[in-house]
Amino acid sequence: KFSIEGENEEAFKVFVRVRPLMPRERCTEGRKNNGSIVKVIEESKNCSKLYLSDPDMVYDYVGRRERGYEFDTIFGQRDSNETVFKNTVEPLLPSILEGYNATCFAYGMTGSGKTHTMLGTSTTLDSIKYVNTAEKGLCLQTVEKLFQLMQETRNKQFAIKISYLEIYNEQVRDLLEDKQTQLMIVEDPVRGVFVPELREIEVSHPSELIELITDGNRRRTMASTSANQFSSRSHAILQISVQTSESTLGMGNQVFYSKLSLIDLAGSERAASTSNRGQRMVEGANINRSLLALGNCINILSDKNKTGSFVPYRDSKLTRLLKDSLGGNTKTCMIACISPSYFCYEESTNTLKYAERARNI
Ligand code: ADP
Ligand code: MG
Repeated sequence: KFSIEGENEEAFKVFVRVRPLMPRERCTEGRKNNGSIVKVIEESKNCSKLYLSDPDMVYDYVGRRERGYEFDTIFGQRDSNETVFKNTVEPLLPSILEGYNATCFAYGMTGSGKTHTMLGTSTTLDSIKYVNTAEKGLCLQTVEKLFQLMQETRNKQFAIKISYLEIYNEQVRDLLEDKQTQLMIVEDPVRGVFVPELREIEVSHPSELIELITDGNRRRTMASTSANQFSSRSHAILQISVQTSESTLGMGNQVFYSKLSLIDLAGSERAASTSNRGQRMVEGANINRSLLALGNCINILSDKNKTGSFVPYRDSKLTRLLKDSLGGNTKTCMIACISPSYFCYEESTNTLKYAERARNI
């Protein structure tokens, strides 16, 4: 059941996804499990534990050499995008059609599987095949399911509009427009947060979404870094706005709006760790600023003891834009993506700590 304002327990969920070990990450020399350092143990239906072992096998002060993390659900190397969808976004969809907002974002270092999760396979190497329908990402599965639910719902009419934008270097850009102008975020007492010049396109079939996203991704800012040649330094936000009209007896036509935001965040690796200089360094700082601000907002929103506290939405473009899509009567889920490789130990630790703080209720 959807949470009401003030009942934070259900409003924020944190998931972890461990992607499969890639062939290039495999290392057999002196390493167990081909160099995979992640172990997942499902303790009960709503509690899974993830153990990350230190690649250098150093015992800590209490004699352990692995650190355990606890989450509601952890998706393992064999879990498909479909399983992820069924457990994360799908349960939120009925409430979207009842007028609530929902947000889902993928967090993690470059190469950890964020884009695979949100958009599907073969996304980084080939910009033409950005949306792969073989392993559909959450975005496409979401829209397909929404259309199915809309068809099944009687006595209500729906209209769905899509917008797609990126935040790159603390600048907002429309991914559905060729014009490269920087967009403003505006706050309106009636409409809430919105971007006045952002293109919103009505879609009447899921296939139209594939075209829009493919088009949009071609415009997405990509820049190579030494961490990953094809790394994405921008946050991509797909917003699905649903207008519901319901004719109620004696009360005429009631219309309400809800918004579902699906977000592929920029890589969470620190600028310093990739020997970035100049422009890349500035980007790194701005990415971290948004991710840091997001973390700060989430920490306050997910903490019952901090209900009513000041939430620093204004600290970054990302959090300003998500002001009415985090907290309040929004249901939010975060999917923290990690690689199982021992090469990624440090970044995986950072990601799990970020996720753990967000789960801290
Ligand atoms: P990110 O967007 O976080 O930088 P990607 O989604 O591009 O990472 O994933 C990096 C690589 O790993 C890609 O080649 C992608 O196809 C592959 N990959 C990621 N997650 C999975 C998965 N669950 N199953 C199979 N391959 C995956
Ligand atoms: Mg990506």
